[in-house]
Amino acid sequence: TKKIELIKKNIGLYPDFPVPGVSFRDTFSILRQPNLFNTLKSILIDAVQTHFMEAECIAGLDARGFLIGPLIALELRLPFIPIRKQGKLPGKVTSEGYTKEYGKDTVEVQTDSVTPGMKILVVDDLLATGGSLEASCHLIEKCQGDVIGCLVIIEIESLHGRSRLHVPIHSIVKY
Ligand code: 5GP
Repeated sequence: TKKIELIKKNIGLYPDFPVPGVSFRDTFSILRQPNLFNTLKSILIDAVQTHFMEAECIAGLDARGFLIGPLIALELRLPFIPIRKQGKLPGKVTSEGYTKEYGKDTVEVQTDSVTPGMKILVVDDLLATGGSLEASCHLIEKCQGDVIGCLVIIEIESLHGRSRLHVPIHSIVKY
């Protein structure tokens, strides 16, 4: 659609960031234009209402999932829960380690933020190799949450991140 084309046209591209050979897609270029941010918001809400009607909770990934997750959650009057890098969340947490391109990482969730059987939609800005979303889905499942799918703004199709995930994935813009 026209709205999605407009979003795609306005996503920034930074070659050789953060390291040579990587092209970084920047969604902050959308957030600094309120009309575009609003358009993105309505696209995301539509996507949830079309593909993930049964969602009872929105989980957002550290850090850019925190920008869009609460937007969706508040609009749909659903709870929002953060999935953070290790050591950032207080109280009892559940952890899941995973291997990245360079080294290891661990994601955490506040254990009592996930109730058993809760239908959770996981959101982030971008799907690359899928490692972050895969670990986040496993993390929620460790807490007995029911991951119903993942929603991202951008999918880098050449990295095949989708194939690592065993739940439905919806992306707004594909490269
Ligand atoms: P993955 O785990 O799928 O390889 O990488 C996805 C994670 O890295 C997401 O949390 C995303 O925010 C971040 N990321 C990787 N590449 C990019 C990029 O080009 N642009 C943005 N905005 N984030 C990226």
